[in-house]
Amino acid sequence: MSRVVMKFGGSSVATSEKMKKVSELILKRKSEYDDVVVVVSAMGKTTNNLIALANELSDEPNKRDMDMLLSTGEMVSASLISIYLNSVGHKAIALTGFQSGFKTIGEYSKSRIEKVDTERLESELNDGKIVIVTGFQGMNELGDITTLGRGGSDTSAVALAASLDASCEIYTDVKGIYTVDPRIRPKARKLEYITYEETMEMANLGAKVIEPRSVEMASKYSVPLYIALNTGDVKGTYISTEVDNLEKSAITNISKIDGVLLVSMSEQLGVDSKITECFVELAVQNINLDIISHSLDDEGKPITSFTSTVDNKSKIDSILNNMDIKHRFTEDVSKVSIIGTAMRNQVGVAARAFKVFLSENVDFYEVSTSEISISYVVDSVNALKIVNALADEFNL
Ligand code: ASP
Ligand code: MG
Repeated sequence: MSRVVMKFGGSSVATSEKMKKVSELILKRKSEYDDVVVVVSAMGKTTNNLIALANELSDEPNKRDMDMLLSTGEMVSASLISIYLNSVGHKAIALTGFQSGFKTIGEYSKSRIEKVDTERLESELNDGKIVIVTGFQGMNELGDITTLGRGGSDTSAVALAASLDASCEIYTDVKGIYTVDPRIRPKARKLEYITYEETMEMANLGAKVIEPRSVEMASKYSVPLYIALNTGDVKGTYISTEVDNLEKSAITNISKIDGVLLVSMSEQLGVDSKITECFVELAVQNINLDIISHSLDDEGKPITSFTSTVDNKSKIDSILNNMDIKHRFTEDVSKVSIIGTAMRNQVGVAARAFKVFLSENVDFYEVSTSEISISYVVDSVNALKIVNALADEFNL
């Protein structure tokens, strides 16, 4: 039996006209597959608008009711699409997260999917219906409506695909995954295939195509993913496990994150208790750190640096001040990363990248590597230039 889960993001269902358009694609799939399940996000900017509305009434809206509020956005889009499909003579039904069997655990506003009880879904599918499921939501052990965190509909779609043994198609307003974001490099190429691992690395290193959590889940349950434009008429990108490694170029993607904050702490050294305390305090206050490095300054005094994001600046400043740690901030920096699983078994990738920095005469503050990526922290004014120079070097 062939099954597909199709997910449409907010911009794909932003108006009734767009809903009619995506319905054509849904019906096309229904003619090709036995079973079609559709997962939708809230229309356009609905979720943001609902958040703004709650903020007009409370400085700190309680999370339980907030989840109930936000879940309505997806209920609107799911029911409207089902209403349309029925009106043009097709069997369809809209189901909320809990009607679809999404059982969640964890906190409100960032719940995790524990399991999906698919009985109801299976029986509706058995009945020949197209099932339209609200993304981003489920129900916890108290019977309360919960949400999965911003962008969570991707995860809903992958969880459904895993539970129903289906493939998963994510439709969006971009044509697929590119070697470099085409908004910063118009001549970037669209990738036909990419691995789960590279996609996760990209998402964590700045690319905003798909929610990293959903790729992780797809990888864990081997759900074949496909990302494509919501018109369905342009070939998108397949995400799966490793593909023809021999043909593969060293680097698959270059990503960039702006708004990085570089924090340099002079004075404290290594496993000194104060530096340990400092990292503990940063963790307690939920501050995400990234590249941590330790070096000597011009006078041979130790410096410990780390990167975070500029929105954490004042929090970090007060933590370090309270602990009496001398520090300096460098703002307007970006992180540029080159990513590719082929890096594992190809030598010379780092050398080629370093040469590019030299010939472009661009300095970097920090460099860090993972098994499949190298990231550089550079002044934001140089970021675009270095992204393009690296892309030229690696033919991306
Ligand atoms: N509507 C929710 C949000 O905007 C979930 C989603 O779009 O995936 O975050
Ligand atoms: Mg969205």
